Amino acid sequence: MQSVLRSSTSAPVAVYHRGGHSGVVLTCEHASNFIPLGYQRLGLPAHDLERHIAWDIGALGLAEQMAALLDAPLVFATHSRLLLDLNRDPGAGDSIAEHSEDTPIPRNVGIGEVERRWRRDWLYTPFHASVDHLLDEQQATIGVTALLSIHSFTPIYQQRQRPWQVGIISQHDRRLSERLIAALRLDSELCVGENQPYAADDGVYHSVQRHGERRGLPCAMIEVRNDQISSGRGQLAWAARLAAALKLALAGLPGAVATTTCEPSSGAMAG
Ligand SMILES: [Zn+2]
Repeated sequence: MQSVLRSSTSAPVAVYHRGGHSGVVLTCEHASNFIPLGYQRLGLPAHDLERHIAWDIGALGLAEQMAALLDAPLVFATHSRLLLDLNRDPGAGDSIAEHSEDTPIPRNVGIGEVERRWRRDWLYTPFHASVDHLLDEQQATIGVTALLSIHSFTPIYQQRQRPWQVGIISQHDRRLSERLIAALRLDSELCVGENQPYAADDGVYHSVQRHGERRGLPCAMIEVRNDQISSGRGQLAWAARLAAALKLALAGLPGAVATTTCEPSSGAMAG
């Protein structure tokens, strides 16, 4: 496939609430389902761009509400993950997916190195440079207390209902995730997934690894089931819940917090 947007000025990244000074920094890599006209929806019917394969439904609205409540800047993507997934290592096979779930992505099939490099330079490099720049700026001024990446997941995956309303994902640095999980589990109505429905070993933790763990920042990925945040009202309710839990978690750093569990016995359902 030819690179069709070499002259495009379509910015791949935006920052919301840049002046936030709480020390918390948010990212949202799957915020948008936008694909420029020249890419002809990558060969997909329009309704496929409304699905989770194209973006994290409700995640941007949730992240914006959290940014406002936490007084935190938010760096978010303005293009669909189907063009290039910003939360994957750019060398990984699923950085530019030829299939997503069971759906083939026709115009991603068999693309050459030139197009791969173009998408990386156009989308990946500026997004992560923007996160780096913001973190540098904040670290040099007010300091950074936490980096959180905001996502959503589908209620059903491979015919199985996912029980968690929210999942907290972490890998080596678990300082923040353990406290955040404990804070959320204070609400006994919630089923909180620990490294569910995804885990770092599924290759989905790239952005937090790159910007959080490498800098030694308390960090985690938050996944909310998308039926919980499909409306503005749901986004606001979840933003308030997550902001309160995060404040509690940060207040407890460092320190032990007792946890309870509602984990189902099944393993991770990667997707
Ligand atoms: Zn996501």
